[in-house]
Amino acid sequence: MEPVMHQVWPKVFQPLRRALILSKRSHSGCAEHSVVLEPPTSRRIRPPHLVSRLYQPSHLRDVGQETRLQAEMTCKSQRLMQKAGLIHPSNPGCYYYLPATVRSMEKLVRVIDEEMQQIGGQKLDMPSLCSANLWKTSERWDLMGKELFRLKDRHDGDYCLGPTHEEAVTTLVAHQTTLSYKQLPLLLYQITRKFRDEPKPRFGLLRGREFYMKDMYSFDVSEEAAHRTYESVCHAYTRLFARLGLHCVQVQADTGMIGGKLSHEFQLPADIGEDNLLVCGNCSFSANVETLSSDDKSCPQCKTGTLSESKGIEVGHTFYLGKKYSQIFNASFSNAQNRSCVTEMGCYGLGVTRILAAAIEVLSTEEGIRWPGLIAPYQVCVLPPKKGSKVDEVTLLADDLVHLLGEALPCLRGEVVVDDRTQMTIGKRLKDAKILGYPYVVVVGQGALEDTPRFEVICQHTDEKMFLSKEALLDLLTKVETI
Ligand SMILES: [Zn+2]
Repeated sequence: MEPVMHQVWPKVFQPLRRALILSKRSHSGCAEHSVVLEPPTSRRIRPPHLVSRLYQPSHLRDVGQETRLQAEMTCKSQRLMQKAGLIHPSNPGCYYYLPATVRSMEKLVRVIDEEMQQIGGQKLDMPSLCSANLWKTSERWDLMGKELFRLKDRHDGDYCLGPTHEEAVTTLVAHQTTLSYKQLPLLLYQITRKFRDEPKPRFGLLRGREFYMKDMYSFDVSEEAAHRTYESVCHAYTRLFARLGLHCVQVQADTGMIGGKLSHEFQLPADIGEDNLLVCGNCSFSANVETLSSDDKSCPQCKTGTLSESKGIEVGHTFYLGKKYSQIFNASFSNAQNRSCVTEMGCYGLGVTRILAAAIEVLSTEEGIRWPGLIAPYQVCVLPPKKGSKVDEVTLLADDLVHLLGEALPCLRGEVVVDDRTQMTIGKRLKDAKILGYPYVVVVGQGALEDTPRFEVICQHTDEKMFLSKEALLDLLTKVETI
């Protein structure tokens, strides 16, 4: 009988359901009256997610795992994500992304898609299995050293699992012999799994060997045009982090293995960050330490300010490449005079899984996750009272409320979770809700018995507690931004 209690019944059937439940109660122990009808099926209404049914394995049996984890370098985001059943370790630097994480990642991907397409980006998908020939052509087959995951096919052909795709995308564009200046700038991007044989994978999703990245490549007619494209991508990145509510600094960076002439990193300041930044207290100048001569502590931009050190997690990287790859692979276009010219390129990365973990790292408390609101796996968690408690009867109101949220707030469809583990106290479930970090938790308890029922609402971002009527609650939740 139990599961039926928590299914959502379409509104017209609510009185019937109520009557059934009441009759069941007054005849407790009487088998013939305890038959509850299955709710009529409806294509229109999506049932809420029930915590008892969500796959969030948080109590793990593998003791060896636990010991291994303690031996590895861990950080807040990794601890919280494992505790909440968001990720599960497999091989070093590789994780299972569990359902709530995938929900959040899909939202993040939608935000990224919006921002990239806003500046003209077109999404494609390139093979992860990359032929060594391309990498030998660019001479990176040897340069990359042990970071590259290499493998052989049955014909003894060399391949690598792509950590980045400059060679692949440039070859693709080079294959188009009719590319016209009218089609430029061309911005192609993908969001795919990338592979890097890290010497020391650590910090959960922050430094893994298998991860998701957005990589975009731009092709322009001239250096000047390429710089404009570069700027527009940097602006898109800045907008993206602002939408996520993350404080991100854009710093001048080393071009490293990718090469090129101009490069910036997008860094989230955090103590566990692996990059050392120098930030001027006087102007907007900031740089990765690697790019400055070691002893110079005065700001090269304003000359008067002093630079202070801070740690950062790199979440994005932009490079102006010039003709480095387009020359090698002959990615050319025909100009207005119908002459063939080599394109000017840029490449732009965003660590998708890393953004997720870094956001949790910088926003959360030690007790619980705080998500960027826009990409929280679920927006609202409703807690009905404990079964058998003195306010047990408001369970019906909790069901009504969940139903109402689905009806009145289309943007919250699929975003509401009901913690139906009513054998547990509210306090215990609140603790779990805190770890998981639903932005809004609604407790249906004592207050729901008042003449004008009121609900306890906890905004987990601010720890603010409110008692709201149904109308005020709807009003509050209407403002929740979803994607
Ligand atoms: Zn300065």
